[in-house]
Amino acid sequence: FSKRVSILETVAKLVLLGDSGVGKSCIVLRFVRGQFDPTSKVTVGASFLSQTIALQDSTTVKFEIWDTAGQERYAALAPLYYRGAAVAVVVYDITSPDSFLKAQYWVKELQKHGSSDIVMALVGNKADLHENRRVSAEEAVEYAEKNGMFFIETSAKTADNINQLFEEIAKRLPQRQS
Ligand code: GDP
Ligand code: MG
Repeated sequence: FSKRVSILETVAKLVLLGDSGVGKSCIVLRFVRGQFDPTSKVTVGASFLSQTIALQDSTTVKFEIWDTAGQERYAALAPLYYRGAAVAVVVYDITSPDSFLKAQYWVKELQKHGSSDIVMALVGNKADLHENRRVSAEEAVEYAEKNGMFFIETSAKTADNINQLFEEIAKRLPQRQS
């Protein structure tokens, strides 16, 4: 027997933005390799990683993930990264109000210079450090709603909500048909 299976795959460029140290590279490594290495100083950096996920309607989304290191120091380079991106994941650290302010800066940048149909996610990472929380989920939800963003808190360390983050993004891609 043979069965014809048609697979609808969407390819989406995804960029991560946010302060240095908020856990962008760890989120990517957790999602792509299922690992967390607290000692790793490596930023996935210059190259990109890709990961495909299957959704319940049997379509798939292949994320081409750009884990940007340069933008943290050279804001002027950032447009080179997010040009053509279908998805921007803006990350802060729930223990750092400064990183939340920086996330808001990136959201404004994307609103000014990103493509108009870009899917933006606001991610409060290091949710495992809730005892040291200094950015409330309420505050972040309110900001995300005001700016038409999807919001989620994650932990790259425990893997909490990492797959959910990418699944929710995949569902929101406008060019995906089902
Ligand atoms: P980046 O500069 O945004 O790419 O941040 P990294 O991914 O390099 O992570 C910076 C530091 O935060 C590293 O020491 C990680 O081990 C740590 N880290 C990343 N994600 C988490 C997390 O979810 N929980 C905790 N507790 N630490 C994390
Ligand atoms: Mg990094």
